[in-house]
Amino acid sequence: MSTVRDLRPTWAEIDREAFSRNVDAIARRLPRGSQLIAVLKADAYGHGAVEMAKLCKPDRVAMIATALLEESLELRQAGIELPLFVLGPLSASQIRIALDQRITIGIVGPEELEIVCGLARDRDVTVHLKLDTGMGRMGVTEGELARVIEMIRSTPRLRVEAVYTHFANADDPSDTLTDVQIEKFSAMSAAIRAPRHHLANSAATLRGLVEPGDFVRVGVALFGVEVVGSRLDPVMRWRTEIMRLKDLPPGHGIGYGTTFHTLRPSRIATLPVGYADGYDRNLSNNAYVLVRGRRAPVVGRISMDLVTIDVTDIPEARYGDEVILMGDGISADELAKRAGTISYDVLCRISKRVPRLYK
Ligand SMILES: *Cc1c(COP(=O)(O)O)cnc(C)c1O
Repeated sequence: MSTVRDLRPTWAEIDREAFSRNVDAIARRLPRGSQLIAVLKADAYGHGAVEMAKLCKPDRVAMIATALLEESLELRQAGIELPLFVLGPLSASQIRIALDQRITIGIVGPEELEIVCGLARDRDVTVHLKLDTGMGRMGVTEGELARVIEMIRSTPRLRVEAVYTHFANADDPSDTLTDVQIEKFSAMSAAIRAPRHHLANSAATLRGLVEPGDFVRVGVALFGVEVVGSRLDPVMRWRTEIMRLKDLPPGHGIGYGTTFHTLRPSRIATLPVGYADGYDRNLSNNAYVLVRGRRAPVVGRISMDLVTIDVTDIPEARYGDEVILMGDGISADELAKRAGTISYDVLCRISKRVPRLYK
């Protein structure tokens, strides 16, 4: 029988133990009474939501949050028993499906609240309510608050289990908007008596901006990428293999647009991975991979399915050698900086074409 490894020499190894250690490390940092909501949206930032959800134990994780309804449904259908929370936004039909599946919904404004109040005329409905404290994207604004409170008051079968907000700039400790948002949240949430609050994402959690008893919504930090200067254990290692190795004379062009020309007699290796796998095209002539533990530069443009590297300075390199694209010291953050984006984007763009192997 053929295995994933036989089918394609490019895959991402996911270290389950690293993820579990990261969950523990975050849970241990929380103040008394606080609990972790593990944010596993975008297929757990590319790591595989079902597999990561299975590692979330009820003593460590209070809920699992996803962005989309389908993402929560996938977890429910895979037999995940932890409470599920959809961040939304959600349409009327999505709200109905979520409630039928006992998935907690985040209400992001009066429009959704009105739909929910209608449904709560003949059933019990539990929600979390989002407040806009400065990000201007989702959540109830200050101006809408009185109307929202009245809607909640007049719907006895609606239970607001938690109120929450989201920080725009928590990854920048010098940005004062976070303090403004915290103050605004205390003023607005005081008007709605909900048993629970949650504000902090990964950055705010690692900065300790968590009140005892508050939940935190942590995503990216669980995967071991850098957040406000600290990093837990990287969970993903993305590898491929040398599939073509050739000697080229000086002055030879490489790849589409021949944006690189060899300057010396060169050994060029071709890798079976490309931008269709999520290896960012902005890494053309602008990244390193690891061959036999040494850095080799990406030369020429990233193609849809292929990458070329210069291994002239690694004479031991052979056909079939393992090549590390990310991991073992090449961080998602490094690739993100080079590609002009953020680690979140690097991780969740690694496409379905790349098999995930779980250790
Ligand atoms: C994605 C998301 C989070 C998690 O953010 P990280 O920076 O990955 O920890 C928390 N809350 C909301 C509303 C989100 O959309």
